[in-house]
Amino acid sequence: MKLNVFHQLMFVLVVWLLGAALPAAQAEPIKPTIYYQAESANTSLTQLIDSPLQQWRTIPEGEAVSFGYTPQAYWFRMHIEASDADRILYLGYPLLDSIDAYFVRNGQVIHKISLGDQQPFAERPVHNKNFVVPVPTHAAHDVYIRVRTESSLRFPLELWEPLDFMEANQYQVAATGLYFGLLLCMAIYNLSNFLVTREISFLNYSAYTLSIGLLMAGLDGVGYQYLWPNWIWLQDRIVTMIGSIMIMFATLVTMGVLQTKIHSLTIHKWLRRFMVVYGITFVLSVFLPYATLIPFVLILAVVSSTFLLSSGIVLWRRGLIYARIYTLALSALLGAICINALGYLGLFESVFVQRYGIMAASAFEVLLLSWALAIRFNDGRKEQLALKEQINHQLEDMVSQRTVELERVMVRLQKANQELEQRSNEDGLTGLYNRRFLNQEFKREFRRCRRNSSHLTLMMLDIDHFKALNDSFGHLLGDQILIDLAQVLKRTLRRASDTLYRYGGEEFTLLLPDTDEVGARDLAVKLAQAVREHAFDTDHGPMHITVSIGVAVGSPGVYDQPTQLLAAADEALYRAKGAGRDQIRVIAERERASSNLTS
Ligand code: GH3
Ligand code: MG
Ligand code: MG
Repeated sequence: MKLNVFHQLMFVLVVWLLGAALPAAQAEPIKPTIYYQAESANTSLTQLIDSPLQQWRTIPEGEAVSFGYTPQAYWFRMHIEASDADRILYLGYPLLDSIDAYFVRNGQVIHKISLGDQQPFAERPVHNKNFVVPVPTHAAHDVYIRVRTESSLRFPLELWEPLDFMEANQYQVAATGLYFGLLLCMAIYNLSNFLVTREISFLNYSAYTLSIGLLMAGLDGVGYQYLWPNWIWLQDRIVTMIGSIMIMFATLVTMGVLQTKIHSLTIHKWLRRFMVVYGITFVLSVFLPYATLIPFVLILAVVSSTFLLSSGIVLWRRGLIYARIYTLALSALLGAICINALGYLGLFESVFVQRYGIMAASAFEVLLLSWALAIRFNDGRKEQLALKEQINHQLEDMVSQRTVELERVMVRLQKANQELEQRSNEDGLTGLYNRRFLNQEFKREFRRCRRNSSHLTLMMLDIDHFKALNDSFGHLLGDQILIDLAQVLKRTLRRASDTLYRYGGEEFTLLLPDTDEVGARDLAVKLAQAVREHAFDTDHGPMHITVSIGVAVGSPGVYDQPTQLLAAADEALYRAKGAGRDQIRVIAERERASSNLTS
């Protein structure tokens, strides 16, 4: 896992922020002893002024007491020495509802100031996120302060000379500014991430960061100072309202970072139930007073934070890498919140931890979570790309497999086609080419020879007295002889271009390209002799047959149509039969030309 430059920068900023919170030397407040007591039913200011110091309790020096959540009012008093210097009372806790400060000299109230966040911000004598009260100068006097709040009651009262206060305070102002700047920056950064990627987790995260910012602004007092200075109603409810929204977005972010829907449906379902509770809490926070709802919100925050943390741990132990970062981030924040909650409940007091711990921890958490979210998104995108590639490969494989199959089928189809064509050109009995193929080849060959001005000779061959043979010994024997004869004739042919066809019945045709009269006569004699001499092997013993042959010699330029050549061959065969059978008759070009035979 690598940090990107943005996150590295942010970490540097957080370290700087922490550094700013720990200045080497600071101006110190004046430290008078502060006394306090709880207000009882019949307490009046006059009685308090008259009451001996023994009735009061002392706040240990340098500490601020926490009284936790209490509806009870408390009284504080301190003695301020006479001085010509300006001085201020500084109450560094912004959530007090009402503060009444009485300046008393010689048993007489000489000045009264009312403060608190039940009053519009503009009415404060000094515009500060906390409470600042100028002290009257010259004479010594006592100050009595009555404080009441529905929030956790604390009273970190300090007496300052203004210049010292200014010097000490600027560190705090800078650190707080940095903190809110960081949150705003992260909110904008994640919002733009969302706008670019349309990944909803980034939007949730941006909203989460903003709600943390608002909550912290409420707790810190800057919210009331700058964001809703006249909105007392909101200031009264900011913690419960924004608190429930914040934890709602924290849960959404958890769902996004841990991808609970994928990795644990049980956790996912529980988170959704929590979401419903937060929703209800938010609605209640609008209607119910702060004091009624805050205990419930605090308990809910503890329970759901524990659940969120446990979810992180469970998924971490299952090996989910983002769960580790998530758990780390959340435990830092929860640690700070716990310490802070102890402070609010009055069980623990540390100005430093309370003032900066939660800010530093939430800044740390916000950065870590943003980082986890970013790498989670990146990994998710990589996974998607890998998946896409895998699917593409599978598709390619499937396509090539199908292509091979298709090619095989095509080859088979081609073969079958060839076979079919061959069959359609073949004679079933003898295996020779048939008359259909002769017609086709004859035309082609006729045209070729005319183009080349070469001879094309056609030979017709017919078995003599074949009918008698059939009649005497049956058709089966006749078939045997036809098959045998085809072989005898084929064997006698020498040239590859000479082709033998079964014309029909016991008639055969020979197509002889580039063969002149001499060649044709020679071949006809050879064929007739071969047949005459062959002993045909039949079921009735060896038999002998003869054939009559008619030849038409197609010399260049003599015949215009193939049918004319065919008719001439037929005529020659007819003459051979007429001459007594076992004869050869040739119609050569001269005779044809002179006899002018046409069909
Ligand atoms: P010739 O040619 O000498 O005048 O006498 P022929 O008996 O051969 O005359 P024709 O052409 O009239 O008779 C042909 C006979 O051939 C008729 C038929 O019995 C026989 N034939 C035709 N085709 C087949 C066949 O496929 N198988 C068999 N066994 N006989 C066939
Ligand atoms: Mg015949
Ligand atoms: Mg015959």
